[in-house]
Amino acid sequence: TSPVLDELLARLVADVPDFPQPGVLFKDITPLLADHDGFTQVVDALAAPGRDETGATAVTKVLGMESRGFILGAPVALALGVGFVPVRKAGKLPRETFAVSYALEYGEATLEVHRDAVAPGERVLLVDDVLATGGTLEATRQLVSRCGGVVAGVSVLMELAALGGRAAVSGVEITSLLTV
Ligand code: AMP
Repeated sequence: TSPVLDELLARLVADVPDFPQPGVLFKDITPLLADHDGFTQVVDALAAPGRDETGATAVTKVLGMESRGFILGAPVALALGVGFVPVRKAGKLPRETFAVSYALEYGEATLEVHRDAVAPGERVLLVDDVLATGGTLEATRQLVSRCGGVVAGVSVLMELAALGGRAAVSGVEITSLLTV
């Protein structure tokens, strides 16, 4: 991470206590999205793990997880010159999907991807705003694997280190712009 990004994220990501439920410190990225310079710099930084040492694009798709992963992942895909794939909550995608369910603190969640969204052998970059327990990223990694694809990298804005999410996602390199 860089001092410039640290300053941007400190200034433009709002901490909201007890949202959506008591005990959760919600990281609200809407001030960052509303700031053209901040949004531009963050998209650039999130795209970096999708490039090789020469700066050439090293992935063929970017996957974003509903719903803030859509907002961040789509411009990252365009910056890298590749297509974007939405990973959606259950029941939203209209064609044949793969589905992976995972445990939440209370209950269960299911994520889906279209079966033909990632081709066998394709190398993809995953993008989301916050890495908390890692359940979302691990489920997405499994979806890519069901398609026969390979997770070449993961970019998140922020990692909540105390929740241990990094350890829950097996065998992928995770790049976080800010660890809190
Ligand atoms: P997890 O699956 O526990 O790693 O949670 C990650 C997903 O939940 C991401 O898609 C985040 O957008 C969202 N999330 C979890 N915790 C927070 C938080 N404290 N603030 C904002 N979003 C969060």
